[in-house]
Amino acid sequence: MASNETLLAIFMNESLLKTQAYIDGQWLTTDNQFKVDNPFDNSHLADVTDCNQEQFQQAIDAASNAFTHWSQTSPKYRSKLLLAWYQNILEHQDDLAHTLTLEQGKPIAEARNEIVYGANYIKWFSEEALRINGDILQSGLDKQTQVLKLPVGVVGIITPWNFPQAMIARKVAPALAAGCTVVIKPAAETPLSALAMAELAHQIGIPKGVINIIPTTRAKEFGKAITASKKVRKISFTGSTAVGKLLLKQAADNVQRTTMELGGNAPFIVFDDADIDAAIDGLMVSKFRNSGQTCVCANRIFIHDSVYDQFAKQFVEKVKTLSVDNGLNETAKITALINPKAVSKVSDLVIKAKQQGAQVLFGGSVSPANHNIFLPTVLSDVQADMSIACEEIFGPVAPLIRFNTEQQVIDLANNTDAGLACYVFTEDRHRIRRLSHLLEFGMIAFNEGAISNEMAPFGGVKHSGMGREGSKYGIDDYLELKYVSVS
Ligand code: ADP
Repeated sequence: MASNETLLAIFMNESLLKTQAYIDGQWLTTDNQFKVDNPFDNSHLADVTDCNQEQFQQAIDAASNAFTHWSQTSPKYRSKLLLAWYQNILEHQDDLAHTLTLEQGKPIAEARNEIVYGANYIKWFSEEALRINGDILQSGLDKQTQVLKLPVGVVGIITPWNFPQAMIARKVAPALAAGCTVVIKPAAETPLSALAMAELAHQIGIPKGVINIIPTTRAKEFGKAITASKKVRKISFTGSTAVGKLLLKQAADNVQRTTMELGGNAPFIVFDDADIDAAIDGLMVSKFRNSGQTCVCANRIFIHDSVYDQFAKQFVEKVKTLSVDNGLNETAKITALINPKAVSKVSDLVIKAKQQGAQVLFGGSVSPANHNIFLPTVLSDVQADMSIACEEIFGPVAPLIRFNTEQQVIDLANNTDAGLACYVFTEDRHRIRRLSHLLEFGMIAFNEGAISNEMAPFGGVKHSGMGREGSKYGIDDYLELKYVSVS
């Protein structure tokens, strides 16, 4: 087989293979570079420019200068450019998907879906750009009270490696639609997808300085630079709760607006009146997408005692059919985790769960054929207070927990600091209404295992964050109200 550097060249349109920083409409390099490897076999993919303080400030200045013009452009113009970017992304879907799989590891079919999923946010916000309407309030004959909606300013964006394209699209699209400019730090594991997106934006004429992409291994320094800068008015972050809290503290000193998409600990609840086949199909999607590396993955699977054994048996049969493979193969379903640290974390959680009394119904270990892969795993006899049910697993492990009553499972589900996604399978419409109110999560999916699309507000409550991405509400995070009184 060809080396991965060659593979990258084969799969990618050459113009999209970018390894430099994108600042003020230019591709820039520094003396330092960092390596990007393929998580499947640790082979080398590319050397990417490692930005430092100097480039951080250059990018912030570029975004700040560009804001003056961009914020004053017509919504129609911004809408047209976003739509052109969307179309350019779709035209290069296959190149982008291969880059994504090579640097992130996910199955190629999922990577193709991610490109469309992310692009859909850009299309959606190209339309929302046209609907940023303020108000004129009733205030008598001698006065006019206006409410303007204006872009907040330069936005500092930090994204994770698990959705290298979509997490950027979800933030940049509403920011640009609102009239903001952006400085983005992609995760160091997956900068190539982000840089390719910048090239596609460049090609269709997004003006210089509006989008800046800063690949760097100096995450902490970058976080400090954007939160300390008076030129950056908002921080938008997706990643771990620990880093989110740190950024919130830093942003407080500068009273910056924040959008935080942080960790989850999603309950997946199956009642005794559920359609069991549908629940199993839902769980397969919710649990094993991206090999379990999503913040909305089912993390605690609560099954009613009366259907627990039947559910476990049928579920294991389905899990056995998952193809464990290199993400580049079309049939792959379970692929490498992002890095060896992630594999050890999942491994440790499973070992601990077994010590605490959990039974392995299937899988339970690292793949003997490839130590970067954790095998799809089903655990039974899990208790809600075991570490595996309290921490975000971020791997293809399904812990099954028994429950008896509705009130018990509501209490168990809510007994976490996280409040992102929750899944419930039941055929009882009264229960659906009750649980819609009582479950403390930003998103609840009844009778389905996939929850996110550009038309709905994605986001969490409690320690899972603040702000919403997507939907008609998503642009509000990037707009400031200004009250103007004219006598
Ligand atoms: P994960 O465990 O999924 O990698 P992180 O929260 O560590 O989640 O990473 C998400 C993003 O946050 C990445 O782009 C990472 O480089 C960045 N990051 C990590 N630590 C910091 C920090 N102290 N300040 C700013 N960004 C950070």
